[in-house]
Amino acid sequence: MGPKRCAVASEESLMRIFTVPEAPGSTLSKIEQEISHNLAGFLNENIAAVEKPLHEIEKDFQSAAIPEEPTFVSDYAQDIMEQLVAHSVHTASPSFIGHMTSALPHFLLPLSKLMVGLNQNLVKIETSKAFTPLERQVLGMMHHLTYGQGEEFYQQWMHSAKNALGAFCSGGTIANITALWIARNRLLKPDGDFKGISSQGMFAAMMHYGYKGLAVLVSERGHYSLGKAADVLGIGRENFIAVCTNYDNKVDMVAMREKARELEAQGIKVMAIVGVAGTTETGSIDPLNEMAELCKELNCHFHVDAAWGGATLLSNTYRHLLSGIEKADSVTIDAHKQMYVPMGAGIVLFKDPTATDVIEHHAEYILRKGSKDLGSHTLEGSRPGMAMLVHACLQVIGRKGYEMLIDHSIEKAHYFANLISEQDDFELISQPELCLLTYRYVPKEVKAVLQAADEQEKLDIYAALNRLTASMQKRQRETGRSFVSRTRLTPPQYSNQPTVVFRVVLANPLTSYQMLADILEEQRDMAKDDPIFKKYLSKYTA
Ligand SMILES: *Cc1c(COP(=O)(O)O)cnc(C)c1O
Repeated sequence: MGPKRCAVASEESLMRIFTVPEAPGSTLSKIEQEISHNLAGFLNENIAAVEKPLHEIEKDFQSAAIPEEPTFVSDYAQDIMEQLVAHSVHTASPSFIGHMTSALPHFLLPLSKLMVGLNQNLVKIETSKAFTPLERQVLGMMHHLTYGQGEEFYQQWMHSAKNALGAFCSGGTIANITALWIARNRLLKPDGDFKGISSQGMFAAMMHYGYKGLAVLVSERGHYSLGKAADVLGIGRENFIAVCTNYDNKVDMVAMREKARELEAQGIKVMAIVGVAGTTETGSIDPLNEMAELCKELNCHFHVDAAWGGATLLSNTYRHLLSGIEKADSVTIDAHKQMYVPMGAGIVLFKDPTATDVIEHHAEYILRKGSKDLGSHTLEGSRPGMAMLVHACLQVIGRKGYEMLIDHSIEKAHYFANLISEQDDFELISQPELCLLTYRYVPKEVKAVLQAADEQEKLDIYAALNRLTASMQKRQRETGRSFVSRTRLTPPQYSNQPTVVFRVVLANPLTSYQMLADILEEQRDMAKDDPIFKKYLSKYTA
């Protein structure tokens, strides 16, 4: 940090920060240039590690005192370049292949400035006149992509005041909560004297309908946001039931049907079944057609969480993988994942546009009945114009462009899976169905020992391999050129024991095949001098 210059709080200077300077040589435009320059430098750096330890970074953010005196913007910008930007995570780096957060198309930078500058609030028409029809159009496009209704359907519903084809929200979590909120309120609807759960609450609803409780069924690979939904909707996390998966990480339908029958026999109503189309850990897609069938049998809501995988619908090559999604009552798709939109762009779609009736909410000063305010059908209140950035990507990239991006990602994942399988000291744990896979480092000598080991010896080696994988991942994150994440699975080849694995998400179009080969090379080198390896496993490879 440079020596502090003293800015002075004055009415005049405060008025000035709300007045937009138009002169090209203004201080603001110089600061903008400087920021853009630094940002481009950061984004083009192809490294994945953040070397400065967190506790060191925290030292720059210690004071709880709000600064008494103002700071010049130029000074502030300088400070955050040093304290914040320099130690930010290189999510845009092509060798950062560990998470669903990745590079963005560059045209979104100027467009997001437009979005922030206009500061429209999508909660109501009075603050978002043109943005509301745009958002409704984007919801219509995504609905059409998912459910493929005819022209007439969209003519009737897209801009209908009373209904909505879906809801924009901050992300998949809110999208999932919204979907299950609708499922809950549709199930426990007004009936005779009972005014519905949204008026009278859960206890009255259970008394009226004679249920002992509600349950939601999902695969054990379901996203943790569904557990939050069960919590906030008063269903209870214990009644959010994780059903086991098969070797391919897809939900076991025999077990799911059995569980549903068992619950219903106990007087617990299965409120919804959630199919996952692209699990967060392995990218697997549940058998959606069979799940739709079971939902029909049970007369319950069918929700598909396609937060990650939903964008695959944009590819005619691979959209068949999501077959059955069109039977879902509601679908979550995160535009901020495989649609390359910045964070804060979740979407939930409703097959039936009148579904939102059960969550409709009105208030006098806004959200008046009959208005086209989107806020009457959303969980969130004030919302930014993120739909514009989704709109921009759909126009600029186009369906065909998305198809190429998605196809390349999936092909790259298949290439990487084959490459891993060819190595005698790596092991592929989950085959990619989309562009996500898991693997681990296991020297061939250890593989051989495992073949002949007794139960106890196996468990000891499994434990050592788990510690090694975790240690390697952490070291690579802190000092490496690349980044993969890690998770814990229970694969059959490890006797269904908890198994720590590297997790790879191949979303960045700039990740090259050579980089993938280099990542294995880097890990191989790291393994050799890993302290865990030396302590527990080197005895087998000596
Ligand atoms: C990412 C994800 C979510 C949660 O979405 P957020 O945008 O992080 O709130 C839910 N489900 C799945 C399958 C996901 O991949």
